[in-house]
Amino acid sequence: MSQSPSLLPMAYILATILFILALGGLSNQETARRGNWYGIIGMAIAFLATVLWEVRANTLELGAALVLGGAIGLVAARRVQMTQMPELVAILHSLVGLAAVAVGYANFLGHGGDYAGAMKTIHDVETYVGVLIGAVTLSGSVVAFGKLSGRIGGTPLMLPARHWLNLALLLGAIGFGVAFVEQSAAGGGMQPLLIMPVIALLFGVHMVMAIGGADMPVVVSMLNSYSGWAASAIGFMLGNDLLIVTGALVGSSGAILSYIMCRAMNRKFLAVIAGGFGTASGSSAAGGEAQGEVVPIDAEDTAALLDSAKEVMIIPGYGMAVAQAQHVVQEITRKLRDKGVNVRFGIHPVAGRMPGHMNVLLAEAKVPYDIVFEMEEINDDFPDVDVSVVIGANDIVNPSALEEPDSPIAGMPVLECWRSKTTIVLKRSMATGYAGVQNPLFFKDNTRMLFGDAKDTLDAVLKAL
Ligand code: NDP
Repeated sequence: MSQSPSLLPMAYILATILFILALGGLSNQETARRGNWYGIIGMAIAFLATVLWEVRANTLELGAALVLGGAIGLVAARRVQMTQMPELVAILHSLVGLAAVAVGYANFLGHGGDYAGAMKTIHDVETYVGVLIGAVTLSGSVVAFGKLSGRIGGTPLMLPARHWLNLALLLGAIGFGVAFVEQSAAGGGMQPLLIMPVIALLFGVHMVMAIGGADMPVVVSMLNSYSGWAASAIGFMLGNDLLIVTGALVGSSGAILSYIMCRAMNRKFLAVIAGGFGTASGSSAAGGEAQGEVVPIDAEDTAALLDSAKEVMIIPGYGMAVAQAQHVVQEITRKLRDKGVNVRFGIHPVAGRMPGHMNVLLAEAKVPYDIVFEMEEINDDFPDVDVSVVIGANDIVNPSALEEPDSPIAGMPVLECWRSKTTIVLKRSMATGYAGVQNPLFFKDNTRMLFGDAKDTLDAVLKAL
């Protein structure tokens, strides 16, 4: 491969600019598609520039790894269902963590002796921090994958002295870090570098295991942030400026997302990370028990109610993603709007299983952006709404978040659809949502339950309309 020292930094600067433009674009639905393209082009430039001008040896191994990794990525991306997207993202974060650990060891073993004095100390700290963040990201993401895919239960693991355990693990990691830098200066250091990942892996597992189901959105965005910092750490270890900048962009945008998620759930970041916050170990009176009579409704009556309404609010949740009902929702919306009904969508920040989940589905079905609103924008409008249609949502419309202080989701702002004249809830059964709490909304006088798979019931509603 030819080596071009002047083209490489130029390509990297161009890629960095494109990544920043991508983030800017992704902040808004209307520009998200463009933002995605910026990201794709930026990544292609970064990738090609690195392969052509940065790599100077082992090109055969690189080629083999690219073909193998690319093939796995292609198959995974084609196979994965939209509902499995959050778990795919989680497992991909774990790979970034694994890469940071592997690069850390390779770097230490291969280049440990290349530095001296202060430079060596700096390099050792980079290596240690990189392996540390990488190992936490790796095990935390694997547990998050288990929780999001239902392989591990949502109930938080509440070890008796869990905060002390976290503190001990943290102090242990710092202690071994000091030992590593000292020993490395004397030509050793492998022992602390082997012990620390065990501590970090344990910490990652414990941190995510201790987090209750309803707080998972914060963890997902936090691990997203960690994966960025892990990539940044790899950049420092390899002396690759682009990786440092890109990792920092992912790390900081993930941190901002975690903050937004915390605000959306009315949680304090540290309290979520410390684990078990607001979980009350399912002791809430609401936990799973029926609280009165539910009134079922059929598709024809639902269609009649919608037909005679002036203001309709649609609230999509995880079940809409499971049923893949977004296209029929769009058709119903179009039909109602043609009849002069004002249809709007109310989106809760943690609806579904990943940030922006509902917006992605609605954009895919080409629902106009200007009728899709954030919770804060429309929560006061419910008294003027004739019919609220809750499609496969549960936790995000649960009044016990506001009314029951010991509920696992207490304090989380929710879409207050029960304040509209009628609420129709589409779901298959009386099963609870992700947080595992029963929902008093289903038993309210002005609530009607349309039971069945959301796609089937909405198809029937569309037919009746
Ligand atoms: P929930 O998980 O609370 O509820 C979804 C409901 O959809 C269930 O009660 C289920 O009831 C119903 N459902 C499932 N499949 C279908 C189907 N095919 N047709 C009709 N209904 C269906 O989802 P919400 O969106 O209301 O809330 C999100 C929850 O997920 C919150 O607790 C949030 O904290 C958590 N979370 C969010 C993340 C994020 O980043 N957004 C990440 C991780 C967790 P039934 O089985 O009876 O049909």
